Amino acid sequence: MTTIKATCPGCGEVDLTADDILLRIGATRAVNTYGFTCPDCADFIEKPADERVVRLLLSGGVVPVPVHVPAEALEIHTGPPITHNDLLEFHEMLQRTNWFEQLVGPQGV
Ligand SMILES: [Zn+2]
Repeated sequence: MTTIKATCPGCGEVDLTADDILLRIGATRAVNTYGFTCPDCADFIEKPADERVVRLLLSGGVVPVPVHVPAEALEIHTGPPITHNDLLEFHEMLQRTNWFEQLVGPQGV
Protein backbone atom coordinates (compact mmCIF):
# COMPACT_ATOMS: atom_id res chain seq x y z
CA MET A 1 0.00 0.00 0.00
CA THR A 2 1.19 3.50 -0.85
CA THR A 3 2.57 5.56 2.01
CA ILE A 4 1.09 9.04 2.14
CA LYS A 5 3.01 11.73 3.96
CA ALA A 6 1.02 14.32 5.88
CA THR A 7 1.97 16.98 8.37
CA CYS A 8 0.74 17.14 11.96
CA PRO A 9 1.08 20.65 13.45
CA GLY A 10 2.50 19.12 16.64
CA CYS A 11 4.59 16.20 15.37
CA GLY A 12 5.67 17.23 11.89
CA GLU A 13 5.68 14.78 8.98
CA VAL A 14 3.89 11.48 9.59
CA ASP A 15 3.39 8.41 7.40
CA LEU A 16 -0.16 7.31 6.66
CA THR A 17 -1.90 4.86 4.38
CA ALA A 18 -4.94 5.56 2.21
CA ASP A 19 -7.22 3.98 4.82
CA ASP A 20 -6.09 6.50 7.44
CA ILE A 21 -7.30 9.50 5.46
CA LEU A 22 -10.79 10.92 5.40
CA LEU A 23 -11.19 12.90 2.20
CA ARG A 24 -14.41 14.92 2.09
CA ILE A 25 -15.50 16.17 -1.31
CA GLY A 26 -18.19 18.84 -1.42
CA ALA A 27 -20.24 20.52 -4.12
CA THR A 28 -17.68 23.29 -4.43
CA ARG A 29 -13.91 23.15 -4.22
CA ALA A 30 -13.93 25.46 -1.20
CA VAL A 31 -15.40 22.78 1.08
CA ASN A 32 -13.02 19.94 0.21
CA THR A 33 -11.04 18.78 3.23
CA TYR A 34 -8.88 15.89 4.29
CA GLY A 35 -8.39 14.66 7.79
CA PHE A 36 -6.46 12.01 9.66
CA THR A 37 -5.74 10.90 13.18
CA CYS A 38 -2.08 11.56 13.87
CA PRO A 39 -0.34 8.23 14.60
CA ASP A 40 1.97 9.96 17.11
CA CYS A 41 -0.24 12.26 19.22
CA ALA A 42 -3.69 10.85 18.26
CA ASP A 43 -5.06 14.33 17.46
CA PHE A 44 -7.51 14.56 14.59
CA ILE A 45 -6.06 16.92 12.03
CA GLU A 46 -8.28 18.43 9.35
CA LYS A 47 -7.07 20.66 6.54
CA PRO A 48 -8.52 22.19 3.38
CA ALA A 49 -7.78 20.08 0.29
CA ASP A 50 -7.06 22.01 -2.88
CA GLU A 51 -7.21 20.37 -6.31
CA ARG A 52 -3.59 19.21 -6.17
CA VAL A 53 -4.06 17.57 -2.75
CA VAL A 54 -7.31 15.90 -3.87
CA ARG A 55 -5.56 14.48 -6.96
CA LEU A 56 -2.61 13.24 -4.88
CA LEU A 57 -4.86 11.55 -2.33
CA LEU A 58 -7.05 9.93 -4.99
CA SER A 59 -3.99 8.61 -6.79
CA GLY A 60 -2.78 7.24 -3.45
CA GLY A 61 -5.95 5.17 -3.18
CA VAL A 62 -7.96 7.33 -0.77
CA VAL A 63 -11.70 6.77 -1.21
CA PRO A 64 -13.46 10.14 -1.09
CA VAL A 65 -16.55 10.74 1.04
CA PRO A 66 -19.12 13.04 -0.59
CA VAL A 67 -20.37 15.89 1.59
CA HIS A 68 -23.79 17.30 0.87
CA VAL A 69 -23.99 21.01 1.43
CA PRO A 70 -27.49 22.48 1.15
CA ALA A 71 -27.77 24.75 -1.92
CA GLU A 72 -28.87 27.68 0.32
CA ALA A 73 -25.52 27.61 2.06
CA LEU A 74 -23.81 28.39 -1.25
CA GLU A 75 -26.15 31.26 -2.24
CA ILE A 76 -24.69 34.73 -2.27
CA HIS A 77 -26.60 36.95 0.15
CA THR A 78 -26.69 40.71 -0.33
CA GLY A 79 -28.47 43.47 1.54
CA PRO A 80 -29.31 43.72 5.22
CA PRO A 81 -30.95 40.86 7.14
CA ILE A 82 -34.76 40.95 7.28
CA THR A 83 -36.35 42.60 10.30
CA HIS A 84 -39.66 42.19 12.17
CA ASN A 85 -40.97 45.20 10.23
CA ASP A 86 -40.12 43.51 6.92
CA LEU A 87 -42.04 40.46 8.06
CA LEU A 88 -45.07 42.56 9.11
CA GLU A 89 -44.99 44.43 5.80
CA PHE A 90 -44.83 41.14 3.93
CA HIS A 91 -47.76 39.82 5.97
CA GLU A 92 -49.81 42.94 5.10
CA MET A 93 -48.78 42.62 1.46
CA LEU A 94 -50.15 39.06 1.37
CA GLN A 95 -53.62 40.43 2.24
CA ARG A 96 -53.75 42.26 -1.10
CA THR A 97 -54.90 40.43 -4.20
CA ASN A 98 -52.01 41.55 -6.40
CA TRP A 99 -49.28 40.75 -3.87
CA PHE A 100 -47.35 38.53 -6.23
CA GLU A 101 -47.13 41.18 -8.97
CA GLN A 102 -46.08 43.72 -6.35
CA LEU A 103 -43.44 41.42 -4.99
CA VAL A 104 -41.97 40.51 -8.36
CA GLY A 105 -41.98 44.16 -9.45
CA PRO A 106 -41.75 45.60 -12.95
CA GLN A 107 -38.38 43.94 -13.68
CA GLY A 108 -39.59 40.41 -12.95
CA VAL A 109 -41.08 37.69 -15.16
ZN1 LIG B 1 0.66 14.60 15.99
